[in-house]
Amino acid sequence: MRVGTPCPQPSNPPTFKMSTYPHWILEAVKKNKAGLHEEPSLDTRGDLADARLHTVCDEALCPNKGRCFSSGEATFLILGDVCTRTCRFCAVSKKTPLPPDPDEPRRVRELSRKWGLKYVVFTSPTRDDLPDGGAAHFAETVRQIRNLDPYIKTEPLIPDLNGNPDALLHILSPGPHVLAHNIETVPSLYGKVRQGADYKRSLRLLKTAKQRRPDILTKSGLMLGLGESEKEVENTLRDLLEHGCDLLTLGQYLAPSKAHLPVERYAAPEEFSAWEKKALELGFKAALCGPLVRSSYRAAELYQKARCRTGS
Ligand code: SF4
Repeated sequence: MRVGTPCPQPSNPPTFKMSTYPHWILEAVKKNKAGLHEEPSLDTRGDLADARLHTVCDEALCPNKGRCFSSGEATFLILGDVCTRTCRFCAVSKKTPLPPDPDEPRRVRELSRKWGLKYVVFTSPTRDDLPDGGAAHFAETVRQIRNLDPYIKTEPLIPDLNGNPDALLHILSPGPHVLAHNIETVPSLYGKVRQGADYKRSLRLLKTAKQRRPDILTKSGLMLGLGESEKEVENTLRDLLEHGCDLLTLGQYLAPSKAHLPVERYAAPEEFSAWEKKALELGFKAALCGPLVRSSYRAAELYQKARCRTGS
């Protein structure tokens, strides 16, 4: 089972002094990093290199990489490792992307087979250069994995596809188990944090997914620490629910470098626990909230929780 979360955070903060982090972040990152040099992590890395596959774990400098790689978890980054947008929280490279590699979905399938995955999470950078935003590639990746074994769960974590409903339907057509799209932050911060994105467009994407395929769980995530207020976070959770979102992740924003947006505030672990409780009270089918939670972190577990809670 290899799962994880796209995350704009450093496992090895390149520019910030470690002493600037609160102790709960330092301790968790230190623990996670310990796994990076163990044999299972090295095997994971070797397999990815052999298969010529990227992970968001590497590209987004995820602080959980040691934990995930050493326990056989990773999130594939399909459609290349270059993004066409310039979100100021994200470490993924911003240059000119290459055309999609038509053999990539097969390689994701083969590595999933080799690793014996039961739950596969994959994401992509935003590909505004492609007419369908990369939807055909996402759909083919779902299809390849389902052909391998229809009981393997798939979770594509998709960009906003520029609000193209046909592209979204294309991804939904082979029947992924979860359709994830991150709202990332509250609407008042979109101009500062997510240039080129649109809060309402992201909400509409989730709503359309739920309307067209109510059998598929929808999922979204956001970060704390960018300057949002408590009320704004609660309103965003309510917006997500009103637009048919089933599953929620909430984590701490960590700046990948000095060139990225600075962290405005560190939320304590207790605050995340309170948000998890609140999210369930508000109506999410399952929620995972914590300082190092990323959108694909323990994704299979979150999916199972939702299934158990709803008895489906
Ligand atoms: S949390 Fe997700 S992105 Fe981060 S290392 Fe784990 S699998 Fe990769």
